[in-house]
Amino acid sequence: MTSPSPTADRGAGPAVSVGDVTKTYGDRRAVDGVCLDVRRGEFFGLLGPNGAGKSTLVEIMEGLRKADSGSVTVFGESPWPRNTALLPRMGVQTQSSAFFVRQTVHEHLRTVAALFGAERAAVDATLDIVGLGGRHDVRVDDLSGGQRQRLAIASALVHGPELIFLDEPTASLDPEGRRALWEVLRDLKAEGRTIVYTTHHLDEAEALCDRVGILVAGRLVVTDEPQHLISTFGATSRMLVPLGRIDERKAASLPGVDAVTVQGGHLVLETRATGKVLAALDAVTGLDGVQTRTPSLEDVYLDITTRQNPQNPLASNNQEHQV
Ligand code: ADP
Repeated sequence: MTSPSPTADRGAGPAVSVGDVTKTYGDRRAVDGVCLDVRRGEFFGLLGPNGAGKSTLVEIMEGLRKADSGSVTVFGESPWPRNTALLPRMGVQTQSSAFFVRQTVHEHLRTVAALFGAERAAVDATLDIVGLGGRHDVRVDDLSGGQRQRLAIASALVHGPELIFLDEPTASLDPEGRRALWEVLRDLKAEGRTIVYTTHHLDEAEALCDRVGILVAGRLVVTDEPQHLISTFGATSRMLVPLGRIDERKAASLPGVDAVTVQGGHLVLETRATGKVLAALDAVTGLDGVQTRTPSLEDVYLDITTRQNPQNPLASNNQEHQV
């Protein structure tokens, strides 16, 4: 992109502010009293199971959908009804991004760029950034799913917006494509742009996001930094000990061990006190072949979404937590 980078001015109020927003379809409450501020320059990930209300919430932030109640501001202004002053400042990629399918890749992006008054030079630069530099003359109709996804992302970026909304941008990409896009997103953040994105890739959210929010059945049950979330929710580490090295009862009696199961060729020891258990194991059997798996955002996510989901009989609703 050739447009100037916004400077992340954290003193100037949030990029997006959502206050007690609710949206109901028929008798289905898709978004239920959500409060959220996305800071300027922040990389914010919205997580949650299918049907949790992510797309609805993001569309409300984008000004594409009207909330039933509550307040939404983007850079201090209401995005609804359609706020033309905000459009050049926002880039939007949705799961159903529209394409000019009979045009070539370059023509398509030129058309999008012209709508926003973006410089023509930005078209070539943006196609290079998303890895479509060699596909200028291919008709949009003939692109693969992953290439279309890249073009949708390019369409959200070509005018150099300060605030970028991306809905599962890596969903159709192969592993190399995903990693390449991670670098693009990191560069956008380094330029001071604000990114709000949804994903089902928890490893990706952990690697990229300053903060994540977890939406379950329309309610934002957690907002936090990924690492802080992992330590706060105290997901357990697992130690994998080859079978036959220590018997199950003895393993369960080691100090710091919360639970023991057999999985494949291993005894799996769950613990919140890794050092203590490693020391005890070392004394009993030695540490050769012992593997340690530290908790990830995915562990915490699964734990939270299972417990918070009202359709789950194991659910409890005592974990509301905001940072
Ligand atoms: P997510 O993006 O997390 O998958 P959505 O926001 O798409 O969740 O959907 C939240 C809930 O609202 C779901 O139960 C979905 O079926 C329902 N929903 C979404 N859009 C509509 C719509 N236009 N009309 C009726 N129900 C909808």
